Amino acid sequence: MDVLNLPRPSWMTEDLVLLEDQARRFMAAEYAPNIERWNEAGIYDRAIWNKTGEAGLLCAAIPEQYGGAGGTFAHEAVINREIALCGFDSFGAPLHSGIVAPYILHYGTEDQKKRWLPKMATGEMVGAIAMTEPGTGSDLQGVRTTAKKSGNGYVLNGSKIFITNGQHADLIIVVAKTDPSAGAKGVSLFVVETADAPGFRRGRKLKKLGLDSSDTSELFFEEVKLPAESLLGPQEGQGFVQLMQQLPQERLTVGIHAVSMMERALRLTIDYVKERQAFGKAILDFQNTQFTLAECKTEATAARVFLDHCIERHIRGELDSVTASMIKYWTTDVQAKVIDRCLQLFGGYGYMDEYPISRMYRDARVLRIYAGTNEIMKLLIARSL
Ligand SMILES: Cc1cc2nc3c(=O)[nH]c(=O)nc-3n(C[C@H](O)[C@H](O)[C@H](O)COP(=O)(O)OP(=O)(O)OC[C@H]3O[C@@H](n4cnc5c(N)ncnc54)[C@H](O)[C@@H]3O)c2cc1C
Repeated sequence: MDVLNLPRPSWMTEDLVLLEDQARRFMAAEYAPNIERWNEAGIYDRAIWNKTGEAGLLCAAIPEQYGGAGGTFAHEAVINREIALCGFDSFGAPLHSGIVAPYILHYGTEDQKKRWLPKMATGEMVGAIAMTEPGTGSDLQGVRTTAKKSGNGYVLNGSKIFITNGQHADLIIVVAKTDPSAGAKGVSLFVVETADAPGFRRGRKLKKLGLDSSDTSELFFEEVKLPAESLLGPQEGQGFVQLMQQLPQERLTVGIHAVSMMERALRLTIDYVKERQAFGKAILDFQNTQFTLAECKTEATAARVFLDHCIERHIRGELDSVTASMIKYWTTDVQAKVIDRCLQLFGGYGYMDEYPISRMYRDARVLRIYAGTNEIMKLLIARSL
């Protein structure tokens, strides 16, 4: 099954092997038959969140007392790999479970954790995180959304763009300035419950190059009144530090996606070139094909070994921000090259939507852009020189 023929990584325990098998069977039954329809519709069904929650595949690393599965990041890693291997690259679950929920777990008060996490684990609430604005993405300190104190609570004003899960989200962590004159120390995180937020409006589901069924959107906040309990954590001004602490996990999550997509591309391509004939032989029999796939397999293997090293360190709580930047930048760069060369081996069919490799080529592109662009990753790595 494993196209890279690698031994099981040392972080992969027996219960994770069972989880992998359960996730694979669930996704083959519930995701795979629908992915094409969802892509055509331009958005996947809201109900898939609830089904995934019922299967125990949301919030796997959230403690059981808050409705999660009580696992570790290793559980998230296994589930995310399966999502990518089955081709549901548009699904926002890795962000929901591995990025949004951990903010609430790590910084939320006891009341906030009890209020939101159990509903996120069942899929009753879909989570999003809104950092990027039309005027600023890489430079997070430049956000212009403000949360002004008003009575016991706050009033939120601003707009966000490119927000994953933007149409489905019931709960949005919004990055806003509580003190615009204080730079990074004036940034705070707020949790907006969309069902009860007059002045909140979802904008367009944006048309984009790939991830056709994901609901990447604009969001608008006009005089949205928030109760004091919407502030994530007990204190204002902690937002920037909170973001910096969580970014390594976000970057590692992108690395898992990149490596898993490479594995899928290799599997699909090897199967194809064994079947397809030209000049009286299988495409695989040409030495060019063999050399190309030998290179791709070597690069994917190196990426996977580096990834496993990072996952293991992260499980131990030892993944630093520089190494997390390396895994994000390098695996997404290598992924692009591997998928491009695989697509070439499909000939004209590789350019057709009905062949998954074509979609993968488009879907892969964003991994070098979001979660911090690869240029920003190199800046962070360079600071350690
Ligand atoms: C499909 C998709 C989903 C997304 N999901 C989310 C989400 O859920 N939540 C969210 O908040 N955001 C999300 N984003 C936004 C994403 O994180 C940003 O687009 C990204 O961080 C880059 O910001 P920007 O678009 O403003 O580009 P800019 O910051 O304007 O950058 C433009 C170019 O300049 C380069 N650059 C910028 N600064 C430097 C520098 N100092 N040195 C060298 N080069 C530099 C960049 O690398 C880039 O190549 C998503 C984006 C996409 C496309």
